[in-house]
Parts: sequence; structure tokens; C-alpha cells
Amino acid sequence: ETRFNKTRFIPPDAIFALTAEYLQDPFPRKVNLGQGTYRDGEGNPWVLPSVNRARETLSAQGLNHEYLPILGLQAFREATAKVVLGSELLPSRRLSLSGTGALHLAGLLLRVCQSPLPKIYIPEPTWSNHHQVFSSLGFSCESFKYYDHETRDLDIESYYSTLRNAEPKSIVILHACAHNPTGCDPTKEQWREIAQLMKARQLFPLFDAAYLGFNSGNYDEDAFAIRLFVGEMKMEAGICISFAKNMGLYGERVGCFMLATDTKEAAVNTQSMLEMLQRSEVSNPPAFGAKIASQVMGMKDLKEMWFADMVTMSSRIRSMRKALYEHLISFGAPGSWDHLIRQSGMFGFLGLSPEIVLKLKDDYHVYMAGNSRISIAGLNPGNVEYVARSITQCLK
Ligand code: PMP
Repeated sequence: ETRFNKTRFIPPDAIFALTAEYLQDPFPRKVNLGQGTYRDGEGNPWVLPSVNRARETLSAQGLNHEYLPILGLQAFREATAKVVLGSELLPSRRLSLSGTGALHLAGLLLRVCQSPLPKIYIPEPTWSNHHQVFSSLGFSCESFKYYDHETRDLDIESYYSTLRNAEPKSIVILHACAHNPTGCDPTKEQWREIAQLMKARQLFPLFDAAYLGFNSGNYDEDAFAIRLFVGEMKMEAGICISFAKNMGLYGERVGCFMLATDTKEAAVNTQSMLEMLQRSEVSNPPAFGAKIASQVMGMKDLKEMWFADMVTMSSRIRSMRKALYEHLISFGAPGSWDHLIRQSGMFGFLGLSPEIVLKLKDDYHVYMAGNSRISIAGLNPGNVEYVARSITQCLK
């Protein structure tokens, strides 16, 4: 007899399960293009030199393991706001900041702010966790067509039309840059149109910003859309920041939810609300990674090093993207591959069928997400040719 006989079995998360499968594979030339984690030219995890330096400084200063405040490390919150929003933020616009689990925290806040619950519009395809985060909070998630599988490009007309017809006051998830998994972002002009359409229909922008600076190597460039909505268009917006990729702090769980509100009163009230919500969820966020990130962003020389580290990572990814493309072409892989070099960011969205994806894993030990998204960072000069040849042989 169990009180749990109503529980269902939930299959393991696909991408974490794929990593586990890869780790158990004894094949020497196996390649992991699944999980989006940066690897150096030899295929090893990379601790950013700026992060290494910050860590040394922190341990020389003497680290303790005290609790952070519920809202997180203040220096970290302030430095994050400054680096994300640049200097253009008007002083009258206030920010409420908070810690990790930014998307979930945003959802918790938005859930208590509006009744009946607003709809959440989510691009299709999207990062695999979006639907789960928001539907677990009771939101109804509505997918809209973001990507056209025929043209292998952003379907901007369908995007505009979704926004024109969206239920007023709904929430829209926006990938700030480096759209996961497609690698296709709107142009600056298209972002302006998106902002205008959203403003006209009172839609709330909720930015998911996991790749700022990691996409192009230029932080300001990658923060364009956020600054457009918040700075230039003066819209209320939620911004969910992750330092997993751009600082390589994956396992430290460093993130931040920021909210730009129209009035000072709303800023004060929402911050107090976030504090209460955070207290009942995790009480207070992890400290170590926040201390590192705050050191990196707060010291001029470390910040410069960090900006250079982001150039290192994004340039290596770009060169591997090009190398894969060139090998596919030179091996005569069937089909067109231009989309691969049109895309940007951490991922390549190959456009292979699930059968081919499975064959690549089973016969060639090349692991990728079921939708044929590859983490380009898993490629290096030692394996890119093998991957291209494997894809070619599977398709021929
Ligand atoms: N959003 C997107 C689009 C992502 O790709 C990721 C990381 N894969 C995240 C959010 C979450 O990052 P974190 O590890 O900081 O939770």
C-alpha cells in the first residue's frame, strides 16, 4: 500500500540522459554534440582565465561560506544590471533583482501579478525546458512558429502575425540572442518591429538571456534587443540572465532575474514579492559563483579579461562551424548546408531526420539532440572531419 499510486513515471530529461549514455560509451572516437557546454580545442572543459583569476583573488581574501541575503549578493546584482543594460538606463526606471532559477522566479512573480493567468507565447522550436518551467507553474503555453523548416530560417512573418493576434497582456518568451536551438535571431530592424508590435498589444517581454557576449563575442551587440526594449522603447520587461555559458560557471548555478518596471512603487513592491517567493523556494541563492561573477564584472582588468575570454570562445565556435560546413561540402554531403553558417551561437541546427540522428549515435558514436541540434563547441580540429564524414555517410 502506498500513498504514491497516483504518480506517473516521467521519462528522464532527454539531453541529460544523452550525456549519461555518451559517458558510458567505450568507443574511443565518440563525440558529444549534445549538451551545450563549451569545450576547448582538445575537447576539455574550459575554466575562463578571468574566472581563474577571480577565484585566486577570492581565496587570497579568505572565503567564508555564510548565507547570502535572500535576494542574493548585492554587488553581483548591481554589476549584472550594469553590464546587461549598459549605461543608458534612465534613472527613473528601477530594477528588482534576484538570484538563480531566474525563469522560474519570473514565472512565480508573473503568476501572482495577473488574474486570470496570462497566456505565455513560446517560440517553436525552443529550449527544451521552457514549456516545463511555465506549465509546471500552471500557465497555458502557446507555441508559435518561429522557424521554417523549408527555408531553414526564421519565419518572421509568422512571428509578426502571432504578435498582432496575440491575446493582449500575454507574456512572450524572447531569446535575447543565439536562439536555442535554431541559431537564428531577428535582425535589428526586425527586433524594432517586434518591440513595436508588442508595445501596441501590451504584451510583456520576458527575455531569456543565456548567451550574452557568447554569441558574437561582443557583449553590447548581444544585449541589443534587451536594451532596445528597456532603454529606447521604455517597456516593462523581465530579463532572465544566466552566467553558465558566458562565464563557464555551469555547475555553480549563477543567474539573475531582473525586472524593469514603469514606476518606482512597482519596483519596490515586486522586489519585496520576489524576496518572499525566493524565501519559500530556495531561501537564498548559492554564493560561490555569484562572488566570482561579481569579482569578474566589478574589477576593470578582470572584466577586460572576461570580454577577451568571450571572444576566444565565440571565435573558436565560429571557426568550427565553418570547418564542419567546409568538410560537409568537400565530402559531398547530400543537400544544402548554407543554413549552418547563417546560424550563430552555440548550436547548429542541422535539419536531419530522427532516424539519421539515431544512426549517427548507434553506428558512428556521434551524439546530438533528437531534433538534430548540435553543440558546435563539442567540435575540435581532432574530430570535426570524423563528424562531417559520419554525417555524409549516413545521408548517402
Ligand atoms: N535558457 C536557454 C535558452 C538555455 O540554452 C539555457 C542553458 N542551456 C538556459 C536558459 C539555462 O541556463 P542555466 O544553466 O543557467 O540554468
